[in-house]
Amino acid sequence: MVQISKNVNFNGVSPRNLMDATYKAVENFQIRAFFEAKNEILKIGKYSEEEFYEILDAMIDAETERKLLLESLSGKEPLFLEEIAKIVKEFPSENVIRDVIYLKEQGYIEEHIEIKTKTVIKKIKGEEKEVEEKEYFYRYQLKDLPDDFIEHFFEPVSIVFDSEVCCQCGWCSSVCVVNAISVTADTLEIDDDICVKCGLCYSVCPRSFSMEQAGKSINKLDKSLKFSEKINGYINTYSASTTKDDIKKVRQDGGIVTSIGEYLLANNLVDAIIAVQHSTDLWKPEPVIIDDVKNLYKTGGTKYANGSTLAIIDEAKKYDTIAVVGTPCMMNAIEKGKLFPSGVPFFKNIKYKIGLFCMESFPYEGVLGLIKEQFNQDFNKITKMDISGGKFIIYLDSGEDLNVPLKEVKSYARHNCHYCEDLTADYADISVGSIGSPSGWSTVITRNKKGEKIYKEVIKAGLIESKNLKDVKPGQPLLERIAGTKRKNCKPIKLEKE
Ligand SMILES: Cc1cc2nc3c(=O)[nH]c(=O)nc-3n(C[C@H](O)[C@H](O)[C@H](O)COP(=O)(O)OP(=O)(O)OC[C@H]3O[C@@H](n4cnc5c(N)ncnc54)[C@H](O)[C@@H]3O)c2cc1C
Ligand code: SF4
Ligand code: SF4
Ligand code: SF4
Repeated sequence: MVQISKNVNFNGVSPRNLMDATYKAVENFQIRAFFEAKNEILKIGKYSEEEFYEILDAMIDAETERKLLLESLSGKEPLFLEEIAKIVKEFPSENVIRDVIYLKEQGYIEEHIEIKTKTVIKKIKGEEKEVEEKEYFYRYQLKDLPDDFIEHFFEPVSIVFDSEVCCQCGWCSSVCVVNAISVTADTLEIDDDICVKCGLCYSVCPRSFSMEQAGKSINKLDKSLKFSEKINGYINTYSASTTKDDIKKVRQDGGIVTSIGEYLLANNLVDAIIAVQHSTDLWKPEPVIIDDVKNLYKTGGTKYANGSTLAIIDEAKKYDTIAVVGTPCMMNAIEKGKLFPSGVPFFKNIKYKIGLFCMESFPYEGVLGLIKEQFNQDFNKITKMDISGGKFIIYLDSGEDLNVPLKEVKSYARHNCHYCEDLTADYADISVGSIGSPSGWSTVITRNKKGEKIYKEVIKAGLIESKNLKDVKPGQPLLERIAGTKRKNCKPIKLEKE
């Protein structure tokens, strides 16, 4: 659920407390920067005056909720996020959990991390061995703040790019209210002359501060979900393949992403889908808005170079309902948007998120380099690229296929993918990848009730055939193992603040 102004309900709060909290909320630097830049924002023309006030209302409501939460935490010992959500009855638990993380970033709340070591039995090379594992426990407590405390100021996201951790998802560029940010697959530029220093881009950037603990706690609140430390919360896992020959011609694995997209568009469940197609440079992904099934098949198949898909979402504002297909970092970015409910119109329109599994992506130059240096093949002759069974494989128009061990191509991958811990798109409604399923089939994870419902409808419509992943080899054990390795090897993000 996206927090927007009409969803915030202050019914349980006394008028006096509400007035005090609102008064404090409007002192927030983001709200002031946004309000004071009204003329600049309207001049740029991205939002109408009505939309401007809708965003402002949402910002004030969310900040008021946070200020009220501070009162509830006063004098409390360090608590787990779930415990805080139980104490605070006035607001939805999901909001409370996200608010705590945001308040931590604003400087009000301290995170206490307790590390415990436990002994577990693990099978290593066929032998059962005792292994020590660390467990981390995160608790949160209001800081003892000095009278002259000033809320932390959020820098524009150039700080993320300059620290070389930007995943180039493009989300900040869509969210920026004055179109100051330009993001491509390799670059990010901010026009300082028009930036109004609202810090909104920083709030929603998946690489500015982590919301991992919030995500896990929110998942744990939903008792209908199964939970795995490796692939996160889910309803069910499946293996599936398209039944349509036309989709088989363009698909990467089971053609499930294209099939779900076709179902959503054909049944008017969404007006448009944000995906990627080949650009004029072959194998270079070009983000596109697809509003007609006949153009959907152009998006089939994996392009291993990264694209800034989310940079075009604001262009889809004219569509009331959209679905977004993207890599885990993009799903993470959209989820992060819920942390700061800016009420931007296109955000509310995102109805479905289809996430792709992703171990890493490559800069376009990297893909060119690896095809030339590892395979010495003409780019135009390649019909498909794939990562499977520990190999990077290319398929040629002659019908031949060639492969090299994955470790030979790792050095061509993007540096900033090393800061990514998510293989299976934790924050999608439905996640799709190949690991765990046989060739021509996709592994599917339904993440929530909405994802499960749509998936079942796509089966019922006869567009895909589906089995439980537990009935398939190598199945979920392999998926969990690889997802766990990605989490373990992920580098921590440190922003280089000036
Ligand atoms: C960069 C990248 C790395 C991946 N790594 C792995 C991996 O390590 N293990 C694994 O199991 N699966 C991985 N996948 C997912 C896998 O390649 C398939 O995309 C997935 O199994 C869906 O297959 P499908 O046949 O259902 O999709 P299709 O029906 O063929 O549809 C493919 C969809 O992917 C989208 N797409 C293609 N390229 C990109 C891109 N660069 N950025 C954003 N969207 C894109 C298209 O818009 C289209 O909607 C990766 C995908 C990408 C994009
Ligand atoms: S939102 Fe995406 S593109 Fe923008 S700085 Fe953050 S990671 Fe980079
Ligand atoms: S670049 Fe960031 S801080 Fe500057 S106006 Fe855009 S969203 Fe606000
Ligand atoms: S590895 Fe992570 S950061 Fe890199 S493209 Fe995939 S999801 Fe994005």
